[in-house]
Amino acid sequence: RTPLTARELTVRYGEFTALDGVDLAVPAGRITAVVGPNGAGKSTLFHCLAGTLRPDAGRVEFDGRDITACPAHARTRLGVARTFQQLAVFPTLTVAENVRVGAEQGRVRDAAAVRRTLTLLGLDGPVAHRPAADLPTGTLRRVELARALAGGPHVLLLDEPAAGLDAAEVAVLATVLKALAADGTALLIVEHDLDLVDRLADTVHAMAAGRIVASGPPEQVLDAL
Ligand code: ADP
Ligand code: ADP
Repeated sequence: RTPLTARELTVRYGEFTALDGVDLAVPAGRITAVVGPNGAGKSTLFHCLAGTLRPDAGRVEFDGRDITACPAHARTRLGVARTFQQLAVFPTLTVAENVRVGAEQGRVRDAAAVRRTLTLLGLDGPVAHRPAADLPTGTLRRVELARALAGGPHVLLLDEPAAGLDAAEVAVLATVLKALAADGTALLIVEHDLDLVDRLADTVHAMAAGRIVASGPPEQVLDAL
């Protein structure tokens, strides 16, 4: 199954074409990565998939249904969740409260799913009751991921999930993302850390100047960069 697909996506900012007819598939049970230099169009593509930007042409489909006109919150409800590079964690809420808010915005609203997500990300101890404002970046990134996961998404869009993490935290993140993929979730990751992409991704798409210029397994695509 390929729950999320982009077809011929084109985005222009005035005269400038930021995305130029991009086709992309985000299949279930796989980790798909998008890499490329600054300005290649990765964020623009991400926004089109997440529903925070309407393309000028082309469409986004979820399970074969055209969701191009569907706003971000409705996509989250359908099961397309995302994380933010600028974390979307509420500072005055506790870790558990943040994750509960995430679950309420998602596909399923279920207290057991919240508990499972907290456990999966190692947030089930005393930290669950601390206000998010007091936590270090690595923990906040886990809260951000938990917030997106608690609603049981079919597709998870990750914007630079390893930014600001140390090596040990990246290793934990990699393990969690692999487990999610093994469970059938479709993951898309936009990531600057090419070592992580190499370790994690099943398929890599390299972008340049608004197009996908190479696609394939990491050893093939990353070695050619
Ligand atoms: P990446 O994420 O790969 O760095 P972006 O998608 O952010 O690339 O940007 C692609 C190109 O579009 C860049 O040249 C960027 O400056 C330009 N761009 C992005 N957003 C806007 C905007 N709102 N207005 C004008 N140009 C933009
Ligand atoms: P992020 O990866 O956090 O989205 P970006 O650098 O891609 O960061 O973009 C930050 C914001 O600035 C986005 O809203 C983007 O649309 C906007 N932006 C990026 N490049 C330009 C540009 N050349 N002109 C105007 N806005 C831009």
